Amino acid sequence: PAYDLAAFRADLGAIATEDNPKLVKQKSRDFFWYSPVLKRQLDDVTADLVVTPKSEAEVVAAVAAAYRHGVPLTVRGAGTGNYGQAMPLSGGAILNLAEMTAVKAIGSGFVVAEAGAIIEAIDTATRAHSGQELRLHPSTYRSATIGGFIAGGSGGVGSVRWGGLRDHGNIIRARVVTCEATPRVLDLTGDDMHKVSHAYGTNGVITEVEMPLTAAYDWVDVLCGFDDYVTAARFGDALARQDGLLAKEIAVVAAPVPHDYFLRHQKFIRRDQSVAVLAIAPFAIGAFAAFAARMQAEILYRSDTASDEEKKGLPPAYELTWNHTTLRGLRVDPSITYLQTLYPAPDHLEKVATIAGIFGDEVPEHLEFVRFDGDVACFGLPIVRFSTEERLEEIIALYEANGCPVFNPHRYTLEEGGMKQTDAVQLAFKREADPKGLLNPGKMIAWEDPEFDFTSEKTYLFKGLRVAG
Ligand code: FAD
Repeated sequence: PAYDLAAFRADLGAIATEDNPKLVKQKSRDFFWYSPVLKRQLDDVTADLVVTPKSEAEVVAAVAAAYRHGVPLTVRGAGTGNYGQAMPLSGGAILNLAEMTAVKAIGSGFVVAEAGAIIEAIDTATRAHSGQELRLHPSTYRSATIGGFIAGGSGGVGSVRWGGLRDHGNIIRARVVTCEATPRVLDLTGDDMHKVSHAYGTNGVITEVEMPLTAAYDWVDVLCGFDDYVTAARFGDALARQDGLLAKEIAVVAAPVPHDYFLRHQKFIRRDQSVAVLAIAPFAIGAFAAFAARMQAEILYRSDTASDEEKKGLPPAYELTWNHTTLRGLRVDPSITYLQTLYPAPDHLEKVATIAGIFGDEVPEHLEFVRFDGDVACFGLPIVRFSTEERLEEIIALYEANGCPVFNPHRYTLEEGGMKQTDAVQLAFKREADPKGLLNPGKMIAWEDPEFDFTSEKTYLFKGLRVAG
């Protein structure tokens, strides 16, 4: 490496480190391999060292040491990002927050937790304390950290009710350590949150967060079957608009994906059925059943009425949604890949029908209904039956030509992965908070190569990419 590893380690003092290359490599990987493109580019990327602080004071000391020695630092929660967010492109150290898991305070409508707390563990604490739960969680509820969700995620289960993570009010506060000679500890609130939310840890280390809570329920998992995918999409949209009918999750997955990939639920699903995967509040289940009957939805499964025998071994319904749909597909057919797209309102259902007509079974669609500023729209997380990288680019171009932006999960930079442009606020904060550019190098094009031409249709290739020999 271009820095003195031994001197860096000596400077870390009592902070826990790990240099066993096998273990370091394990902690240098996330779910980048979901993408055949990222797999080709990043498979050999690895850090030199894992540093595991136990407290904010240790984070401050570790960051100060990295600054002194010029060591690239990539923060890691649980490493479940699927855009290669946590891949240490320049090597250096992984700053592993997995041991900072304390739930520090719970009150009416809020929780304060350390960044490394697992999302499910936070909910377990808030449920026991006062029957509350987080508004939103990724489908990686059982493994992802709250800090990783804020720095690397966007929304998920709950977004149909509450919107996305970056919408006003969905994060109350983030406490951030800067990467300077003398690191500062800042409590960011209001608009300042946007400096670090979804910034991939390129401009600060989040040590603690304050998140809003809502009433907790024992959500009822429901699967509804439809003969036709577009009808299923209309049902999902109509359900999302039932203001009195509390749903936490509404996904629609086109046939034959539910039957072919939801192996544990396969017994409930015919191969030609498109399926709506839902989580409904128990108090609303009667109203929901009436609504479903009126919409001619066939209820295939309901967790509140299924027998213990039927429920045996089934994952929760949210683990059929968001990127878990893709994961289940990859387990059955490793040759598939996926995309993340948006069907903007108000004509999203027309776009859904158009896109389905263009691709058919080459791109079986998967929709996630969400609220945007009070309106309903949907994301697409389609399965793509992958042939070549060129065809994948063509498919992306066809989505975009039909008014559906693609958040390309085959790119590792913030800009190409979805933002589409430089986020001036994040860039300005990086200038201030990471003057040496040590935090997660290679992920923010605006920092690495301000001249990069986004209209060139070229993929950005990070010059500092260092791969293991
Ligand atoms: P990591 O992968 O460890 O990190 C993510 C990014 O944040 C990295 O850039 C990392 O450097 C940075 N980071 C981590 N912790 C910090 C910190 N404390 N301070 C600063 N930067 C930090 N995402 C969604 O938004 N919604 C979903 O529903 C969803 N479903 C998924 C399903 C599957 C099967 C998979 C594989 C991924 C899914 N994702 C989803 C992506 C990912 O799970 C989420 O973004 C998740 O919240 C990341 O948490 P993590 O702890 O694993 O973060």
